[in-house]
Amino acid sequence: MLLEVRDLQVEFKTRDGIAKAVNGVTYSVAAGETLAVLGESGSGKSVTAQAVMGILDMPPGRITGGEIVFQGKDLLKLKEDERRKVRGSGMAMIFQDALSSLNPVLSVGAQLGEMFTVHRGMSRKDARAKAVELMDRVRIPAAKERVGQYPHQFSGGMRQRIMIAMAMALEPALIIADEPTTALDVTVQAQVMDLLAELQREMNMGLILITHDLGVVADVADRIAVMYAGRIVEEAPVHEIYKAPAHPYTKGLLESIPRLDQKGQELYAIKGLPPNLMHIPPGCAFHPRCPMARDVCRTDVPPLAHVSEGRRSACHFWKECLNG
Ligand code: SF4
Ligand code: MG
Repeated sequence: MLLEVRDLQVEFKTRDGIAKAVNGVTYSVAAGETLAVLGESGSGKSVTAQAVMGILDMPPGRITGGEIVFQGKDLLKLKEDERRKVRGSGMAMIFQDALSSLNPVLSVGAQLGEMFTVHRGMSRKDARAKAVELMDRVRIPAAKERVGQYPHQFSGGMRQRIMIAMAMALEPALIIADEPTTALDVTVQAQVMDLLAELQREMNMGLILITHDLGVVADVADRIAVMYAGRIVEEAPVHEIYKAPAHPYTKGLLESIPRLDQKGQELYAIKGLPPNLMHIPPGCAFHPRCPMARDVCRTDVPPLAHVSEGRRSACHFWKECLNG
């Protein structure tokens, strides 16, 4: 297995108390596999990814338990410099907002080239050629002419392609993309997602796709992990989850996918708001919003139960949900 996150716990210190952002997340990603991690904001999907990337283990965030095993090594047990080495060449992250992730006063060629001068000791000239090659690879038209341009001279979709190129530059084994297409138009979203999926296949990388939108990952993900209040509530092969969800929250998310024939209409099937992470409801954290909730849901935390091969659900009544 390329990456195994085991029982990860992350807390944030806030002015009002301790927010429990991640409460025992376990997931894995194999080489060549795409795992979509789905949830509303505050579900812990980004925080888990940031823990994997090593960009949050400093105040106010704190990893309080669990393991992050990457290529056989528990990153949380390595010394800081070893950790940095493993992560630096082994994994890369793509963020939602390319404009704030790219340096506005450096040409894209210089930024892409830096990956090779700094990490591979290449000459500037060779690095420039590599930059053009990468821009070609992510299908930016006229790469040779545009390599000297600045981020603001590219469209949102093209900038996101540049981010993908940056992430892939050192050929990492794992890429984590956090809402990589959320800021883009629907048609551009699909193009960027297809590109990402294609490169992932070609390079046999593991890919974690973080999203709040089930619609955008349907065609590219192998498996989906659905998160709620810092826990995984359902995990399943992608086609199975679409056919029949085994958790009422997943069901609500599926019913929330905006449909093309209802454009502009905010279709939201789940009533209420995600919980305050400082006061996670007892029992099943989803019970205040769940149309299927019963007494036991208010007192007993549902375990992540085995449903079928590769499929788990944290609902006391997953059978009913699956058959309903
Ligand atoms: Fe709903 Fe109960 Fe299942 Fe939680 S355990 S999702 S409240 S039915
Ligand atoms: Mg997020």
